Amino acid sequence: MSPIILWFRRDLRLVDNPALNAAIKSGRPILPIYIFETDTQKPLGQASLWWLHHSLGSLQNSLKSIGLDLFMTKGAARDIIPDWIEASGAKQIVWNRRYDKGGIQTDKALKEMLSADGLRVESFKSSVLFEPWEIKTQTGGYYKVYSPFWRRCLAHSEYIHPALPAPKKAIGFDLKQTDLAKTGLGVKRLSLEALSLLPTRLDWGAKLAPFWQIGEQGALAALERFLAGPVEDYAEDRNRPDVMGTSRLSPHLAFGEISPRLIWHVTQASGKSGGKFLSEIGWRDFSYHLLYFNPDLATQNFKAQFNVYPWEVDDIKTQAWQQGRTGYPIVDAGMRELWATGWQHNRVRMVTASFLIKHLRQPWQAGERWFWDTLVDADPASNAASWQWVAGSGADASPYFRIFNPITQGQKFDPNGAYVRRWVPEIAGLSNRYLFCPWEAPDDALKEAGIKLGVSYPRPIVEHKKAREAALAGYKVMRGEG
Ligand code: FAD
Repeated sequence: MSPIILWFRRDLRLVDNPALNAAIKSGRPILPIYIFETDTQKPLGQASLWWLHHSLGSLQNSLKSIGLDLFMTKGAARDIIPDWIEASGAKQIVWNRRYDKGGIQTDKALKEMLSADGLRVESFKSSVLFEPWEIKTQTGGYYKVYSPFWRRCLAHSEYIHPALPAPKKAIGFDLKQTDLAKTGLGVKRLSLEALSLLPTRLDWGAKLAPFWQIGEQGALAALERFLAGPVEDYAEDRNRPDVMGTSRLSPHLAFGEISPRLIWHVTQASGKSGGKFLSEIGWRDFSYHLLYFNPDLATQNFKAQFNVYPWEVDDIKTQAWQQGRTGYPIVDAGMRELWATGWQHNRVRMVTASFLIKHLRQPWQAGERWFWDTLVDADPASNAASWQWVAGSGADASPYFRIFNPITQGQKFDPNGAYVRRWVPEIAGLSNRYLFCPWEAPDDALKEAGIKLGVSYPRPIVEHKKAREAALAGYKVMRGEG
């Protein structure tokens, strides 16, 4: 019997995978494939590539355990899929939908081309609670403000169908190398290593690995751990970078190792007060909603008035920020946490992003690119929407003139200084009073803590008050008031 092709993308899991479920239901032997797409408009960053390598390895093993062999290769899906259809004689193909501009273009073109050739092509909702077009305003438009969006989602929550169980067994299709060689393009199957996803210049693996359990089992374990404890105090602790108060599910969600639908149902069934947590999952859906209707969200200001903001493009300042050398301890702690673990706490992301955009007056796109490269959870929707949120240029954004004070933010959300002491150990000896503003410490306090400002730890790259004024002046210029 001719096979059905099951195309994996950012849905690297067995539990609650609608395309996998449909492939099994078709009764045909299954040919699971993964294409590392090299013609994409937004190539993956280094941290994501590292994660992807291990996530694919994990998926390969899970598929093997139910009788399937994952076929991997790299190149342009528009070339490879027709080639592998020819090689396998497949009459049907299934995949789970994606919502980024490049992905949509590729999928639409393939669907048209393959359907015209008589193939049955089916796609499914898998990575969001609601399709971006399912949630509409009263007038039929899309939402630009989160609260009414989420209220509408909650009003329709009966449509969040139960999660599908992982299949126990499947019938695989044996596609031989010789059949692959006979086709027009002769696209070869590649081993995981031959995809060459692991960064070669930096040993990210050794550095990031201790912080994560990559793959579906790791995702399920993270959810279980979160629901067993932190969820209870989530509403408070989610703002504290010094405690493990959040789920750390973001990279697992970004690669589809777990579905938001499963998270929704398991959280509801846990009997714990998960409303605030689920509303953050709602922010993720909202980001996809915005991205779908604004395909250039990662590069173009949502609010066009920001197109004339007088940014001060300065690579040296941007580098100091990237490397955690701004002289503002909470900012430096966050940027070093990011570099060391591939993740940064949400509260700190807001502070570091605000600092780059408002204190250093660098375009938010520069920060979006750095996060895209270094976050293991780099997500085309959440990263773009969140950077625009902080910049003030986004939908439902924090107003530009609300400028985070990096000293009081540190004092408030890292009250004992544990987070800063962990990531900026060279100032760990300072008392809490000066920990977030070492330049204010008297000489003897600095000496006692073994700190030489400007030598062992940088002096502040900009002065808070002046930087704030300059940012507001820029805002006035943008509004034609300056
Ligand atoms: P939890 O607090 O446990 O939340 C559960 C899940 O909800 C998260 O895993 C995530 O999928 C989702 N979520 C939580 N907060 C948000 C949010 N504000 N927007 C969208 N989804 C959210 N998140 C990403 O997944 N990828 C990104 O590339 C990304 N870039 C960001 C850039 C900036 C400048 C900022 C301020 C935030 C960004 N976020 C991004 C959102 C948020 O910081 C992370 O999702 C969160 O810190 C992940 O940790 P967690 O899994 O422990 O979250």
